[in-house]
Amino acid sequence: MQGIGFRPAVYRLASGLGLTGFVYNDTRGVTIEVQGSVERINKFAERLKTGKDLPVLADIKTIHLEDIETVQGDAGFVIRQSKTDGTVLSQVTADIAACTDCLREMQDKNDFRYRYPFINCTNCGPRYSIVKTIPYDRPNTTMSVFKMCDKCATQYKDVGDRRFHAQPVACPVCGPKISLCDNTGGIIEQDSNKAITRTAKMLLAGKIVAIKGIGGFHLAVNALDNQAVLRLRQRKKRDAKPFAMMADSVEKIRRYAVVDELTERILKSPESPIVLVPKKADCGLAPAVAEGVNTFGFMLCYAPLHRLLFAPPPRLASGDAGAGEGLDVLVMTSGNISDEPLICRNDEALEKLGRVTDAFLTHDRQIYRQVDDSIVHFIDGQPVLLRRARGYVPTPITTENNCEKDIFAAGSDLKNTFCYVKANQVIVSEHIGDMEDASVYHHYVNSVKHLAGLFEVKPHVAVCDLHPGYLSSRYAASLDGVELIKVQHHWAHIASVLAEHGLDEKVIGLECDGTGYGTDGAIWGCECLIADLEDFERFGHLMYYPLAGGDLAVKEAIRPVLGLLSQAYDSEFELSKFGWLLEKIEPNVEKQKLILQQTQKQVNTVNTSSLGRVFDAVAAMAGLGGYNNFEAQLPMALEASTTQGLDECYDFEIIEDEGQLLDLRPMIRQIVTDIRQQTPVENISAKFHNGLAAGLLALAKKARKTTGLDKVALSGGVFCNRYLANRLIRLLKQDDFDVLFNRFVPSNDGGISLGQAAIAAKKISQS
Ligand SMILES: [Zn+2]
Ligand SMILES: [Zn+2]
Repeated sequence: MQGIGFRPAVYRLASGLGLTGFVYNDTRGVTIEVQGSVERINKFAERLKTGKDLPVLADIKTIHLEDIETVQGDAGFVIRQSKTDGTVLSQVTADIAACTDCLREMQDKNDFRYRYPFINCTNCGPRYSIVKTIPYDRPNTTMSVFKMCDKCATQYKDVGDRRFHAQPVACPVCGPKISLCDNTGGIIEQDSNKAITRTAKMLLAGKIVAIKGIGGFHLAVNALDNQAVLRLRQRKKRDAKPFAMMADSVEKIRRYAVVDELTERILKSPESPIVLVPKKADCGLAPAVAEGVNTFGFMLCYAPLHRLLFAPPPRLASGDAGAGEGLDVLVMTSGNISDEPLICRNDEALEKLGRVTDAFLTHDRQIYRQVDDSIVHFIDGQPVLLRRARGYVPTPITTENNCEKDIFAAGSDLKNTFCYVKANQVIVSEHIGDMEDASVYHHYVNSVKHLAGLFEVKPHVAVCDLHPGYLSSRYAASLDGVELIKVQHHWAHIASVLAEHGLDEKVIGLECDGTGYGTDGAIWGCECLIADLEDFERFGHLMYYPLAGGDLAVKEAIRPVLGLLSQAYDSEFELSKFGWLLEKIEPNVEKQKLILQQTQKQVNTVNTSSLGRVFDAVAAMAGLGGYNNFEAQLPMALEASTTQGLDECYDFEIIEDEGQLLDLRPMIRQIVTDIRQQTPVENISAKFHNGLAAGLLALAKKARKTTGLDKVALSGGVFCNRYLANRLIRLLKQDDFDVLFNRFVPSNDGGISLGQAAIAAKKISQS
């Protein structure tokens, strides 16, 4: 790993043992030559392996030891300059939250970095977000424009110092500076302390402030002020999607949400992600922060600047009361407009966020790469990444085998990530976003090139989704001189689970997803695959139902509702009989008629086994709304309304046709009956989730009977639903299945690129 203080630690260890020689970083890793008695050299190697003398972020993957016949006797031990030649096999590290040592210094009035918002050391601070190219040295970062002062330079050069070769090292004299500007860029305040104090005051007064952090801008607003939160929603054009929040202590988060020990550990981890935690009822937070979900997304302050914003402001002068009470909890949502990429440049922020924000708390350290906050939630009691970005990227996954050719995996078009394979490293990109937005596609192309540069990857093989319309697939196909492999979407999902667990064997894959292009041209979504990395077979799936309207079907719930009802009631289905149910979903009767005609005559209609759309339909029929303002709004509302502890379930059938078909027609009819009888939505939702879990278990049991396999891999976006995932995992385990699921990459389409890469690597190994 680069930039975590490894070489100084080696220096201290070697000098301490009286050994001579040298250490240097090159692009393949760290090379150490030590000279001295065999006994001491062995001791050195021993202590290197235990890791006790190494920096907290060090994680040695492999050590290769070699005797050297002839050495030039060195007088002492030295750290040599980084070398740039050779193959890149070392890691560029992720951005790391401010460490406790730095935070202590920042609060120390006698320290020359007292209240300095950019304090960092080799154990913490920005990395990936400021690196332009390798090796990770100051001239190759956005810190190159700041000339170190004598004090900083002394620490930077002192091998015994915590800041030895800490590339972003800086202080109030020589480093980046804060300024507070109005929404047109006019300077309000340039003194760091005054700017921060004024920002806190503005936020307490209900203002919106855009704050430049590590990976981009956040839009901040007081999370206790509902009017302010509503104003942010309106200005950001974000109607309903829950906002993430930030606090400066776990104790504060506990006032509003349930935080157990594991959650606390993750909140406080160096990666410092957003963690989804169960809401406390009537906790006093602005309702507009997160409606229609049962969790809050919380993170702790991770940049020193965040800490200062929350810290009780010092009295700036006699007679100044400071900001009074400090901030409690802030909404800290991504600084972007609707689904565009996160904004990280000052000029772009001014242009695009000027209409949204009342002020900018900004600084002059350039963010080279925008990196979103990562999101973690819990499945089966284990932390699982829902969005993998800041703190986790670009740390590679290392594999047992070396891949002979470099691979580029293009990913999926929604929640895109892409992935590279180089030798034994699998490097999954940060969350890029939904490609339907042109600026996201542009960001994708830039990111693909940048990451290739950082890891010096030259792909000979590209792998992409089977979907002919995906922009990611087209991009992969456009690469010159590269062999192209196409992989079915849901197979890639299951392969991502295999890759994470280092498995290369056949499993029963249960895949529950929105939509993906199938090998038969239909839109698949709920699949039971018998799969390994070499091939897959479609053992069963959700019975196809007709879905009218292409892209609109993802938004308008009336479309899957009419598809499922007309299938469940067949010739008995008439709009007039169901008016009572349909009017709350789509009041326009003419539109209902038109969509039904389309559905029945198969005009602009696809056959699909999408489970995501079934969730949309059930949520809509149960009265939770008729439209997804953001992806999975209706399914999330359905999950949030589920009664815990109810074991009843709706019926399903497994029909043997071409494969095993999961038939939900009985379930749909029972749901309609329950709604007519005004059964509470909490119970309908529980019975629906339970019925699905039972149906999926039944499919898995059939597959086990046929194949003898008992390992089940779960993947797909629907497994972001904690109730369904937890229940199904419990049922499978009770039935003696060995259950695997995604943890390191999201089970949604953010994990697709890893699965594609694993399948391509397998293919290369066989050729
Ligand atoms: Zn530090
Ligand atoms: Zn300095």
